[in-house]
Amino acid sequence: MLSVLLLKYFSTLHISQNSFFDQNFVAKNQEIQLPILKEKKVALYIKREDLIHPFVSGNKFRKLKYNLKEAKKLKKKVILTFGGAFSNHIVATAVAGKMEGFTTVGIIRGDELGKNLKETIANNATLNEAYKNGMKFEFVSRTVYRQKNTFGFIEKMKNKYGDFYLIPEGGTNCLAIEGCEEILTKQDTDFNYICSAIGTGGTIAGLINASQNNQKTIGFPALKGSFLKDEIAKFTTKTNWTLTADYHFGGYAKYNENLICFINEFKAQTGILLDPIYTGKMLYGILEMVKNDTFKKGTKILAIHTGGIQGIIGFNKKLAQKNQQKINVL
Ligand SMILES: *Cc1c(COP(=O)(O)O)cnc(C)c1O
Repeated sequence: MLSVLLLKYFSTLHISQNSFFDQNFVAKNQEIQLPILKEKKVALYIKREDLIHPFVSGNKFRKLKYNLKEAKKLKKKVILTFGGAFSNHIVATAVAGKMEGFTTVGIIRGDELGKNLKETIANNATLNEAYKNGMKFEFVSRTVYRQKNTFGFIEKMKNKYGDFYLIPEGGTNCLAIEGCEEILTKQDTDFNYICSAIGTGGTIAGLINASQNNQKTIGFPALKGSFLKDEIAKFTTKTNWTLTADYHFGGYAKYNENLICFINEFKAQTGILLDPIYTGKMLYGILEMVKNDTFKKGTKILAIHTGGIQGIIGFNKKLAQKNQQKINVL
C-alpha cells in the first residue's frame, strides 16, 4: 500500500529518453516559505533531486550514471555492490541495473537475513524492491562484511558470480563524484551556500568540485566520527567547504521524537517529504542554524534533496513496532 502511495508522490516524473541514464536531469530549485526564513531574511531553496526516480533517487542516480556507462564499456554483465538491509544504494543499484540490462549482486550485511529469504523479503520493502528487480543477494555476517574489500572475499565472489564490475559501499568512487558534479548547474551560481547530507562523502565532494570559489558548501554528516574530513579531501582540492557535526542525532539511523516531528511538520508546511537518515537531519540543522543567526541577512542557501524516500517504509515499520509516531508520507 505504502509503496503505491510513494509512487503517487512521484507522479510528476516524465521520462522520454531511451536510456534513463542518458537524460540530462536538471532538478528544479523549490523556494521554501517558512516564517523563520522571512524573519531572518534568509532565502532557502531545495534542489529536488529526490524527484529523479522513486528508487534510483537523488544522488544515487548521479553516482551510478558513469559507473554503469563504464561497466557497459568494459562489457561487464554483472554489477556487484554492498550495503545494509535498508540501503538506498542497494535498491538503486538493483533497479538501475535492471533498467540497463545488468545482473546485480548485493552483498548484504547480516547473515541472519539469509536464513529465510521469503520472510526477509516479506518484511523488508527495500530488499523486496531489489529482489523484484532481479538482484541476487549474498547475506554475510558483520565480520565477513568488514572483510568485503579483501582479495580473498572478492575472489570468492568472482568464482561464484563470474567477472563483475564492482561498485563500493555507498557507491562512492571517482566516477560517482563526476556524476555528482552534475547536480549543480549555471542556475545555481548565485547561491551563497550549498548544503548536503553526508554518508560516505562522495556526493559532497562532487558538489564542492562544481561549486564557485565564492560559494561555501556545508556538509551535514549522518554519522558520528571525524574520518569524513579526510575522506572528502581525497576527492577534492578545493577548500571552500566545512562540516557541521551537530545534527547527526546520535549517529547513523539514530533519531528522536524531535526529528520525526520536524519531518512531519516540514512536510505539512512545504509539501516536501524528507527521509529520516539524511535529508531530515540536514534540513533540521539548516533551520537551527538560521535560528541561531549563523547566516547574515540576504543569504541565499541551496539545500540538495538527495532522495532516500524509499527508506521511510522500513523506518516507519521500526517506529510502529516501538509504538512511536510515524512519518507521514501523504
Ligand atoms: C546515500 C545518501 C546520502 C549520502 O551520500 P554520500 O555520497 O555517501 O555522502 C545522502 N542522502 C541520501 C538520501 C542518500 O541516500
